[in-house]
Amino acid sequence: MKLPNLEGLSFLSEKCYLHTTIAFGKEVVKPVQMMIIDGLEVCPRCEKEKQDELLRLEQQRFYDNAERLIRHNTLMRESLVSDKTILNARFDNYKVTQDEQQTNKQKVMLRTEQYRNGHTFNIFIQGTPGAGKSHLAYSLLKSIHDSSETVSCLYIDIDEMIRKIKDSFNNKDSKFTESYFVKLLSEVDFLVLDDLGAEVGSIDTTKQATDFIQRVLRAVLNARQDKSTITTSNLSSVQLKSIYDAKIISRLFKNPHYVVFEKTKDQRVVNIPF
Ligand SMILES: [Zn+2]
Repeated sequence: MKLPNLEGLSFLSEKCYLHTTIAFGKEVVKPVQMMIIDGLEVCPRCEKEKQDELLRLEQQRFYDNAERLIRHNTLMRESLVSDKTILNARFDNYKVTQDEQQTNKQKVMLRTEQYRNGHTFNIFIQGTPGAGKSHLAYSLLKSIHDSSETVSCLYIDIDEMIRKIKDSFNNKDSKFTESYFVKLLSEVDFLVLDDLGAEVGSIDTTKQATDFIQRVLRAVLNARQDKSTITTSNLSSVQLKSIYDAKIISRLFKNPHYVVFEKTKDQRVVNIPF
């Protein structure tokens, strides 16, 4: 705060009547004697309030900025992946060996552009394991993350999340509780739910997802109705319907854009030399 120059300071007979005090439980005006500070006629109390307000605004800006950065860095800090190499996935290094992959990459890039322009919708990326669904989903998130400091993105491998929640049942010190994930997944602007259905067991669609998984997904998708969610799965929508309850399915498949791999074989298998 700037201190007044004492030489140029003198009291005046005029008073400022803007200030009050509480006396005997009642608010009464407390006149403050005006002063001349650096040649200007001012009320010292008003001056102090002005300075305090400037300081408060400066602090507020600092905290808002810190909060925005923390929110923006959710992708790096909170994402759950089973395979760390996915963090290097970009549209540029998506390996295209079949036409369908090229078409689907273009589709996802187009949707990314629409997200950037402020549109809200869900995407469902479905197909065989190893087609590169997770790669495209992460590339989309990273691209959005890099394009704006005001958005928050999160990538969640559902199987990993469920393992952490299960672990928290027996480990009371774990922060990875059901409510922790519901809050985290509900709040971000863009969410990838990777490998939906895998947690139920390999393509055994007769098995129903356990209660707590249903509960988490229901709460998250309910909270995300005005936000964009990108889901990847090896299972078709018909198969998913036999695993999850109707509320989850209807939220998930509410006007989604589909990206489907029908022809692409498992790249990880294709790449093994015989
Ligand atoms: Zn005043």
